[in-house]
Amino acid sequence: MIKLKADYVLTMNKNYEILENAEVLFDKKIIDIEYNLPGESIYLGKNSVLMPALINAHTHLEFSSNKTSLNFGDFISWLDSVIINREELFIKCKNRCFKKAIDEMKKSGICAFGEISSSGEDLKYLKHSPLKTVYFNEIIGTNPAVADMLYQDFLARLNESEKIKNEKFKIGLSIHSPYSVHPILMDKAINIAKEKNLPIQAHFMESKAERKWLDKGEGEFKLFFEKHFKNAKPLIKPLEFIEKFKNTNTTFIHCVYANEEEFQKISEIDANIAHCPVSNRLLNVGLLNLETVKNHSINYSVATDGLSSNYSLNLFKEIRAALLMHVDLHPKYLAKDLLKAVTLNAAKSLGLNNGSIEKGKDADLISFKLPDKVKNPENLPMQIILHTNEVEKLFINGEEI
Ligand SMILES: [Zn+2]
Repeated sequence: MIKLKADYVLTMNKNYEILENAEVLFDKKIIDIEYNLPGESIYLGKNSVLMPALINAHTHLEFSSNKTSLNFGDFISWLDSVIINREELFIKCKNRCFKKAIDEMKKSGICAFGEISSSGEDLKYLKHSPLKTVYFNEIIGTNPAVADMLYQDFLARLNESEKIKNEKFKIGLSIHSPYSVHPILMDKAINIAKEKNLPIQAHFMESKAERKWLDKGEGEFKLFFEKHFKNAKPLIKPLEFIEKFKNTNTTFIHCVYANEEEFQKISEIDANIAHCPVSNRLLNVGLLNLETVKNHSINYSVATDGLSSNYSLNLFKEIRAALLMHVDLHPKYLAKDLLKAVTLNAAKSLGLNNGSIEKGKDADLISFKLPDKVKNPENLPMQIILHTNEVEKLFINGEEI
């Protein structure tokens, strides 16, 4: 058992309680949170903060070798560059590359991440990850002629990843997007998720081009599909796509161009959204309307996406960017929401038992120090986001990593 004492304990519980000079007692799980619990405690130091460790709900670590290869600045030319460079980037990302990506997340206080795997090649590097991994086997492909082959490949990858399942390694599955997966494949994969109770992730309405393509079968995606895949008709309506995920734990990634009806439907089926503001900015697709997301009471997380569309996997940097980008929201309240988005909300999205400091939750915790005392505790969330890049301690299931 370990007992830590901090100047500020951010519980992330329902009431967003922030306790000053409080102690947290834990083994693998949180046992108690109190003032002056009996027994010696480890004091984390002046201006120390103890809070739930962060959760990066959506990444693509298989692209971690990308630094300057892909075309940022325009969604379609970026997608073109992904298709052209994909194999080369995968080959370049081996042991050291995965280790670097995980180290960066670890240093920034991330205890768990959602990994989208399209190749299965990342499995051998991630099965011994010190961080909790939710491994989303991805299915992608619209050509009915090869649908069966794609499905068999997907099943084989799913099987391989199932063999690794343990306390820190869980699996899920990913339907790449409404424009890139044949509805027959969607249905088959979603059925598996229902049978095995697996979380799902799907990219949705990331770009204006996707909106135009799915609504009208027109625009930049038409040219893109003719060029790469020789098919020129969208295969599903966006609302129909969302509807398919009823009775699952699904997270829709991006949703920048989702409309009112779609947000309503996402809310109705109790799905989650993952917001990746830096990726959206770098691909110049715009900014998710967080106010609408909140008005529909949709659970949202903030995630970095992969290094295919970001320069960093550090979640503190990501939420700092979000704080600065959403200029229509009050920074004090947005900061509170953003910390919740990368802890409790992300835990729900990935189906994990962490994200808050409450009795019975996994003891996944971080601690770090602020540069000075925060005179008004109401300001604590914003000051944390402004002043934190790396953490001092990271505990996963009660063990210091
Ligand atoms: Zn993504």
